[in-house]
Amino acid sequence: MIIILRPDASEQDAQEILQKIDTAGLKPLHMPGVERTVIGALGDERVLESLHLENLPQVDLVKPVLSKYKLVSREIYAQDTVVQVGNTPVGSEQFAIMAGPCAIESEEQLLETARYVKNAGATVLRGGAFKPRTSPYSFQGLGVEGLKIMSQVGKEVGLDTITELMDVNDLDDVARYISAIQIGARNMQNYTLLKAVGETQKPVLLKRGLSATIEELLLAAEYIVASGNPNVMICERGIRTFETATRNTLDLNAVAFIKERSHLPVIVDPSHGTGVRTLVSPMAKAAVACGADGVIVECHRSPKESVSDAAQALSPQDFHTLMQQLAPFVAASGRTLAEVARAS
Ligand code: PEP
Ligand code: MN
Repeated sequence: MIIILRPDASEQDAQEILQKIDTAGLKPLHMPGVERTVIGALGDERVLESLHLENLPQVDLVKPVLSKYKLVSREIYAQDTVVQVGNTPVGSEQFAIMAGPCAIESEEQLLETARYVKNAGATVLRGGAFKPRTSPYSFQGLGVEGLKIMSQVGKEVGLDTITELMDVNDLDDVARYISAIQIGARNMQNYTLLKAVGETQKPVLLKRGLSATIEELLLAAEYIVASGNPNVMICERGIRTFETATRNTLDLNAVAFIKERSHLPVIVDPSHGTGVRTLVSPMAKAAVACGADGVIVECHRSPKESVSDAAQALSPQDFHTLMQQLAPFVAASGRTLAEVARAS
């Protein structure tokens, strides 16, 4: 339920209503605005109705939140949320570029990749230390050793970092070494994991499940926010459809739809979304055009040697070209790219 106060309502009026909601065992939300204060009340609708808040003199309007997801909905928060990943404001006028290898393979591999993605304009380094591989015989990642490498490389090159968390037992290590946590497609509905990251304040990139609907994705995001962590970014990374020409079908409808219904930032992953190196750049441009707040792209210093997802990895040259091609689209969308670092 959303309770809109009259323009002349005071802070004291707002506090009284918040108190009533709390006393009734519901979750109160205080959203002071420039012109009016909006109050949210989450919980059993019948209890809410029995409070008859609409009869209070300082209340202008009481209306239900129609969507199943509440905290992530624009019905509750109209303004865009900006999630701060280290120095990168995701969801702001700066279009975010996250790039790096699928998996952390060694310190020198990550360092070399980090240097060239930073030089080309990325501000967040991606790379998996815990890899959710389809086959148990494929490379599973370097584990905690990989996190340490990423932390060290991120500091040395001056990049924020993001890595996937698969197991609650690794949460402390990931939170200690890395700027942002990625929840992979295969874990989008792992509610234990969602609640656990929701109990931290770390930025979380929640990837859409392989066959998850947009509503399921937003409800998964709701789990994290309802557990206390508002720093959630949604990631469209392609879904399974009847189409087999590409690895997945990148659902850009979802980007525009989610931007309309939710205040959370949306990141597009054109690498997993297509699985095809030559399609990464066209779909990254499309991501800018449909209103995404950034992209996450897989790169490798030598794609054919990549231990995972080689077919979609961009070489240093490919990544540089992608960034050059992206720039006019970003400008046309009224956004900016981070200053190109031109570091060592
Ligand atoms: C990844 O980012 O390397 C990854 C495994 O992605 P997803 O969870 O989207 O498959
Ligand atoms: Mn990958």
